[in-house]
Amino acid sequence: MAKILIVDDSETLRSQLRKALEEAGHEVVEGYDGVNGLETLNSNPDVQLILCDVNMPEMDGLTMLGKVAENDSFNKIPIFMLTTESNADMKEKGKAVGVKAWVTKPFVPEKLLGAVKKVLGS
Ligand SMILES: [Mg+2]
Repeated sequence: MAKILIVDDSETLRSQLRKALEEAGHEVVEGYDGVNGLETLNSNPDVQLILCDVNMPEMDGLTMLGKVAENDSFNKIPIFMLTTESNADMKEKGKAVGVKAWVTKPFVPEKLLGAVKKVLGS
């Protein structure tokens, strides 16, 4: 089981994700925008997976993940991007900052948990 960081400005989505992940035995920490997500990561350096929204106030997801990618302590953490829609340009940018998978919202719990299991190897 893993410690997972969820970063999304939608409180509803965060609580849905938390529920699904906790039911599968994972521990969840949250950030409500990119700035807060980085703060949460800094105080939880043992996070093993990051689920990150694209559009958020203060700092968007790709900007936040760019900062994570520049940080030697955090740049090996796998990342899933949460998105309502994705285009080729966004996927290229995501790839550059280490995005491993794209999760379309509304998410399907079984699918998400399968992808989490695969990336964590447990
Ligand atoms: Mg958003």
